[in-house]
Amino acid sequence: MSAVEPSLIQRIIRDDVRAMGAYHVADSHGMVKLDAMENPYRLPPALRRELADLLAEVALNRYPVPSSEALRGELKRVMQVPAGMDVLLGNGSDEIISMLTMAVARAGAKVLAPVPGFVMYAMSAQFAGVGFVGVPLRADFTLDRAAMLAAMAEHQPSIIYLAYPNNPTGTLFDAADMEAIIHAAQGEVCHSLVVVDEAYQPFAQQSWMPRLPEFGNLLVMRTVSKLGLAGIRLGYVAGDPAWLAEIDKVRPPYNVNVLTEATALFALRHVSVLDEQAAQLREQRSRVASALAAHAGVTVFPSAANFLLLRVPDAAAIFERLLARKVLIKNVSKMHPLLANCLRVTVSTPEENAQFLEAFAASLQD
Ligand SMILES: *Cc1c(COP(=O)(O)O)cnc(C)c1O
Repeated sequence: MSAVEPSLIQRIIRDDVRAMGAYHVADSHGMVKLDAMENPYRLPPALRRELADLLAEVALNRYPVPSSEALRGELKRVMQVPAGMDVLLGNGSDEIISMLTMAVARAGAKVLAPVPGFVMYAMSAQFAGVGFVGVPLRADFTLDRAAMLAAMAEHQPSIIYLAYPNNPTGTLFDAADMEAIIHAAQGEVCHSLVVVDEAYQPFAQQSWMPRLPEFGNLLVMRTVSKLGLAGIRLGYVAGDPAWLAEIDKVRPPYNVNVLTEATALFALRHVSVLDEQAAQLREQRSRVASALAAHAGVTVFPSAANFLLLRVPDAAAIFERLLARKVLIKNVSKMHPLLANCLRVTVSTPEENAQFLEAFAASLQD
């Protein structure tokens, strides 16, 4: 086997790509895994057997039906997408973010989002050669409306992302601030598409979906990942068909595979099971938040998602001590200066939450 010359790699692979670290996924073997906002619950055994029978009948030898008509119809019905609006599917909403970015990536184009926020907005922009403008949130992680409007005027972004609620802070931005931004982006301050990212909608129970018809520059993006189907990779974006028709042109053909499609259709027919799991997690969220807030020196930020952001005296130390106790959470303290000494923990089952809270209390004492 001949060795690959580093100089050849240098000649061919982009400088900014070579300089990057690979997307880091922590080794969670044997851990209580509270780092990735997964739903800890699986489908009940009877439904799993039913699904297995269904999947056995799927024609794996055939390409998916183009544009997944049946699944799109079912999503529109179950997720109450307003009449006249359509949905476009992605291999997770991560893929939708890359499609959106690709579709706007003309020379000099920019996208804008509050920071700290979801990292894929900036990463997708970098991959597509699009500028990323991060507008800092206030110290309490609420939207800085004036700073947003000023940055919109200065940078004229093609897309503005607003995660509702935001990751990694859990904040549900003020609806009046959001509305002011969407309006201002209709030509008054800039001409931008506003993408409201509702990845955590099952836990927020508030949505811009019903308001889609009011704003010609609004898209609402969702995913089934946080609802309990992270493994099948399915995201969708709802909006005016005129927008979606353009974005569809950069969609890789057959991006949603037949197993995902069949599984999603099945899960949507049983969505009440997933809704019930989300309700339990919302209840656990308030229990875990109160338990954490009872510790002196610990601040818990309000969350409308299935995770909590907390500030501790020494995030790196607490993170390591939790790891030593077989609890994996996410240390976000180096992601942005506003997140100094912050940790993010996924809300889980009562048992796993109790394990986390016990390990956390012990880690504060060490
Ligand atoms: C998890 C997450 C997503 C990505 O979801 P996938 O559908 O799993 O790709 C998108 N946006 C936000 C804010 C998220 O936290």
